[in-house]
Amino acid sequence: NVRVRFAPSPTGYLHIGGLRTALYNYLFAKKNNGKFILRIEDTDQTRFVEGAIENLINSLNWAGIAYDEGVFIENGEIVEKGDYGPYIQSKRLEIYKKYVDELIEKGHAYYCFCTKERLDKVREEQKISGQIPRYDGFCRNIPLEEAKKRIENGEEYVVRLKLPHNRDIDFYDMVRGNITINTSDMDDQVLLKSDGYPTYHLAVVVDDHLMGITHIVRGEEWLPSTPKHVYLYEAYGWEKPTYVHLPTVLNKDRKKLSKRQGDVSVEDFRNKGYLPEALVNYLALVGWSPEDNEEIMSLEDMVEKFSFERVSKTGGIFDIDKLNWINGHYIRNSSTERIRELAIPYLIKENLIDDEFAHENIQWLDCLVETLKESISTISEIPQKAEFIFSEEIEIEEKLYNEFLNNENTKILMSAIIEEITNIDEFDLEEAKTFMKKIQQKTGIKGKNLFMPTRVALTGSEHGPELVNILYLLGKDKIIKRARKVIE
Ligand code: GLU
Repeated sequence: NVRVRFAPSPTGYLHIGGLRTALYNYLFAKKNNGKFILRIEDTDQTRFVEGAIENLINSLNWAGIAYDEGVFIENGEIVEKGDYGPYIQSKRLEIYKKYVDELIEKGHAYYCFCTKERLDKVREEQKISGQIPRYDGFCRNIPLEEAKKRIENGEEYVVRLKLPHNRDIDFYDMVRGNITINTSDMDDQVLLKSDGYPTYHLAVVVDDHLMGITHIVRGEEWLPSTPKHVYLYEAYGWEKPTYVHLPTVLNKDRKKLSKRQGDVSVEDFRNKGYLPEALVNYLALVGWSPEDNEEIMSLEDMVEKFSFERVSKTGGIFDIDKLNWINGHYIRNSSTERIRELAIPYLIKENLIDDEFAHENIQWLDCLVETLKESISTISEIPQKAEFIFSEEIEIEEKLYNEFLNNENTKILMSAIIEEITNIDEFDLEEAKTFMKKIQQKTGIKGKNLFMPTRVALTGSEHGPELVNILYLLGKDKIIKRARKVIE
């Protein structure tokens, strides 16, 4: 029975690399009829961020990555569900304490009383002599009784893993194959900190074991930690899980995508107007491809096609152009109603419309969306693309003016437009559809000579969407105003 988990630390936001890790866990669980768990790894109390758990859950929910057990939000409250809780590590301190004690009794861990000053000094000396900084084992051989006495006397301590000397640690990774590391290249890792909290290394092993996790699917930045974890499984006598380390999501310079370079959080992409299924579809392809090389896939398609065998070893490059292309695809294939609802906040934010307008002009907004849908790759582009509709004045470049409007027809054409539209009480979409035909009949001007000058006069551009839509969207007053302007 496959059981996998996504175990983020609540740093305040969900990195898109994290979303991809969650997605691959989800796909693997679904594919194997397994369970997917969300566990919160908050043992680093110095990094506590208010609202971070909520943010993580909201981002996963938005992306449509559902899980079976763990931490959820219900009616605005954080709740836990499942038989293996608590799923928030800071609520499991008693459990870790018990397992640390067990390791100490078994002689696989020891108390360490070294002060920060001493550790800094050792590290400095090691650096100077060209060694890799590592704990020098100063407290390794303090007899347990003596150590316990020192603790009773109030001395500060941590608990460290007691690695055997010169032993090979082997494990299998589904992406990278067999890996062997010798303990002489490893450190006596701190397992329990002086504040009583476990380190990530201890907590992750204890929890993955107690929660019955079968496959550990996570970013490759955790690969160097894995030998320590594997050793812990062995020390406890537990069966170890299968490891799957995913290639890092890189930017175009092959560096890790970091917050400093701009958008990296799921929330950033949401705010930019990406659709969740587009972001998820795109992220699936960063480091994985299906056998048929299909690029547009629903979550169900991905579940069907997913396998770790096709996850690449090398970093996946995050290509914003490709994401934009995929997002544009999903926008074009979404209902007008959906895009309208998503677009409204952006239009309000740019002060192009207000709430009341949004409520009262659904048909108009739908026409706006349909008119622009083909040419956008994110929802946030809508206000800018719609500017020529909303603005009171438009500029017509001299070149365009000379090519299309600097002739005798213009006056006839514009006067006819003004006269005709003035007589229409309500210039709705139906009226807009027949309007140019009427102008043609009225003036005898047709084809290119009819449409191009009208388009340029009304939009300031020789290209653009359907003229009928433009007429309707502009409405009577703006049409009259713009027609007048070119013949004054
Ligand atoms: N808490 C770790 C993180 O923030 C999880 C690593 C793991 O999946 O083991 O990424």
